[in-house]
Amino acid sequence: MAQSSIEWTEMTWNPTTGCDKISAGCKYCYAEVMARRLQAMGVEKYKDGFELRLHEDALQIPYTWKSSKVVFVNSMSDLFHKDVPLSFIQKVFKVMNENPQHTFQVLTKRADILLKYDKHLNWSHNIWMGVSVENEKVKSRIDFLRQTHAKVKFLSCEPLIGPLPKMNLEKIDWVIVGGESGRKPRPMDVDWVLDIQDQCEKKGVAFFFKQWGGTNKKKTGRVLNGKTFDKTPAEDIEEIDFDEKDIPIKDKSMSKENLYFIALIPKRELREKINAFKNDFAIRFNSSKALKVYPHITLKAPFKCRSTAHGELIQWFSELHIRQKQFTIPLKNFGAFHNKNNPVVFVNPTVTKELQFMQKEIIASFSSLFPGDIHPVDVEFKPHITVAYRDLEPEMFSKAWEEYRHKSFNAEFEVDAFYLLQHDTIKWNIIATYNLSLDFQQKQKSATLS
Ligand code: SF4
Repeated sequence: MAQSSIEWTEMTWNPTTGCDKISAGCKYCYAEVMARRLQAMGVEKYKDGFELRLHEDALQIPYTWKSSKVVFVNSMSDLFHKDVPLSFIQKVFKVMNENPQHTFQVLTKRADILLKYDKHLNWSHNIWMGVSVENEKVKSRIDFLRQTHAKVKFLSCEPLIGPLPKMNLEKIDWVIVGGESGRKPRPMDVDWVLDIQDQCEKKGVAFFFKQWGGTNKKKTGRVLNGKTFDKTPAEDIEEIDFDEKDIPIKDKSMSKENLYFIALIPKRELREKINAFKNDFAIRFNSSKALKVYPHITLKAPFKCRSTAHGELIQWFSELHIRQKQFTIPLKNFGAFHNKNNPVVFVNPTVTKELQFMQKEIIASFSSLFPGDIHPVDVEFKPHITVAYRDLEPEMFSKAWEEYRHKSFNAEFEVDAFYLLQHDTIKWNIIATYNLSLDFQQKQKSATLS
């Protein structure tokens, strides 16, 4: 696995390498250039250059990643190349199915083969399937993709070398657009881009503008009409148990980057124990969304804050004075919110007086800064550590709850800090830490999570 400089992903994972050119978009194939370079450098995996090769040993790699990743599968190949056997593709899918904590982005130009194999593949929620659409000639790839059972479907219009008017975006969740880069890039017309953006907007499809490209892509950048477009398929606000509609919105133009919340996050050892339950839900009860976020107890529900107020928020957080020393929350067994359509199962924290007091102090201070952003659950505090929710079907919930209501779990959650988190349009990140010291008057701050 390698870190990726591609703007819409984090890492790459290549269980196959090598390919053959199939359409105009392949003309200056980046994978081919890289494969030849790596071959010349003597890299074993690329000893056959750009010839198609299957790498059984690479199948183990995703099991070794410690934290959840967004992964571009086969940046150096095409998983649905005609010479990749279905049995191997199924092995790759099995790895993706068994690692629901990661999001896997698969992209192909062989949309006909994709559809042919579709019914033999297990499409778990964490697999995003895309087809490349570089010009009108290959628009039929969208129709093939639409018919698959992939839960998230996307188009990569890169390199965009022709207009794509009147696309059928039915059932398409995400469109990425980018111009060609390199030594002899084919030009991309701004009107083609604006037309695609307009089509996405009309259909409510997430639009991501990757780059203008050209011989110096850094210089040409990725600003379109004075803005960057970084939307990804809707997947995330729900991670913190709330609908976007529940979040007070001061300004509807604000994006997910303007989203914040405050939470307690247990130390690694306890997180791993809780993640084991989330994994159990993912594997046995087909509910994996909770795996996408750290186990946590929400202290202040998600709220939106304008970019211009970001500094004010950070300052407020760093100057907080919470009159509470470190304490311990006993965790005991499991609880559930029996919401008809959105049931939730959680690890049950004991509501200690220290926890209640600390949460009240945070909310009281927060409301003095942002009085309009107090959510009913901030007032009626019901601490819980979610292990399954958004994609937990009511039927699966009944089955799981029958078992989990009798299940025993005892642990101690040592609370010595709480965290301010901000969304980056793909995931939540800790941006500030408040340390509760043994002597709360000598509190210190750091920005690390052990
Ligand atoms: S399909 Fe992709 S990897 Fe294969 S030759 Fe074309 S651009 Fe390269």
